[in-house]
Amino acid sequence: MPSNPDRVIANLRELAALTSDPNGAQRLAFTPTWQKARDWLATKLNSLPTEWTIEHRRDAAGNNWVTLPGASPKSLVLGSHLDSVPNGGWLDGALGVVTALEVFTAIARDYNGRPPFTIRIVDWADEEGARFGRSLFGSSAFAGTQTISQDRGRTDASGIRLEDALAQCGVSIDSIADAQRERANAAAYLELHIEQGPVLETMGLPLAAVLGTKGVERHAITFHGQEAHSGSTPMRSRRDALAAAAKLALEIRTIATRHPDAVCTIGSLKTFPGIVTAVVGRSEATLDQRDLDANVLATMYREAQEKSTQFAQEEHCTVDWSRIWNIAPEPFHPALIDLCEQAIRDTAATSHRMPSGPLHDAAEVSRSGIPTVMLFVQSLKGISHNKIEDTREDHLHLAITAFDNLASRTIDWIRAS
Ligand SMILES: [Zn+2]
Repeated sequence: MPSNPDRVIANLRELAALTSDPNGAQRLAFTPTWQKARDWLATKLNSLPTEWTIEHRRDAAGNNWVTLPGASPKSLVLGSHLDSVPNGGWLDGALGVVTALEVFTAIARDYNGRPPFTIRIVDWADEEGARFGRSLFGSSAFAGTQTISQDRGRTDASGIRLEDALAQCGVSIDSIADAQRERANAAAYLELHIEQGPVLETMGLPLAAVLGTKGVERHAITFHGQEAHSGSTPMRSRRDALAAAAKLALEIRTIATRHPDAVCTIGSLKTFPGIVTAVVGRSEATLDQRDLDANVLATMYREAQEKSTQFAQEEHCTVDWSRIWNIAPEPFHPALIDLCEQAIRDTAATSHRMPSGPLHDAAEVSRSGIPTVMLFVQSLKGISHNKIEDTREDHLHLAITAFDNLASRTIDWIRAS
């Protein structure tokens, strides 16, 4: 029996009603409302047939696992995250978990509670990092890429330590690496997620197979000039640190548009002394560059550096760079991308492939060597992390049906591989 999209949508609305206020979803990780969402999921599991030998537990990093043992211990993992940002939307993360529950149930029913492979649902702990500033907490522990030493010192806005918030949820920060044990026997990981951007809506398409998550280069760039009186300093004598930064802000658009999916953003620019009567002596910019291709990313980084040096010289300034953060691109599994595209074509007749700009738990799973793919569904107006986040109901139907189809195809693929 195939998955029932109407039940998924009804469940999502039920979860939203339980965990939102007038400003949106409030399922912030390691808070009582998040716990309430997880308890809600547990009640849904309790209503499944008792003759199915379902195991439900948390791992050492607080990830929530539901397992139906199959004839083989090799497992198909379906998941996403129940946590949200403050004032978040009803679909980000929740769509993936609630659809995973539906598809898990459909598979269990199809095989009378004993599928050929073990089927697992995972609800990752703290994907958003909204409270402690550490995104992909649970999935990075699973992947073995987490940084306990850096995470230990983290606090939330009210000064509560991450370590203490974890302890309240029964997670010891010293043992989160034990979550890596969950990787054993994982043969494939599938995640359905809203796009959170405007690409599919612009193209008039409901669904896309995701090629991977883009790598990120994030830098602080400081131009040094000379503060000077705005009235007494002739134009030709100036060392204007803003002029150099402004040239770079325009140049990064040219740098990005040489590549079809690349993006470059100067999201912050501060000027000093920042008063109306002074030439800018120092400007501090941030640069965020993203692409799925590591070579493209490296080229864009080099070009931005070269151009910043050129513009600094033109304006008689100097420039220095310091890296804020970076992460490598994570391409998903080619065979699973093909299966995802076939599942989309079966369901929506037309398909598309696209990289993801935002990071996702799926990237950590893929980084740990488990074949992974994501399926995106269109986001209305491209808006997410906001209470107006939404997706057309007919598109949700297509997404849930295509994800069910992808899971069936992946079971066949595991069997054949
Ligand atoms: Zn998400």
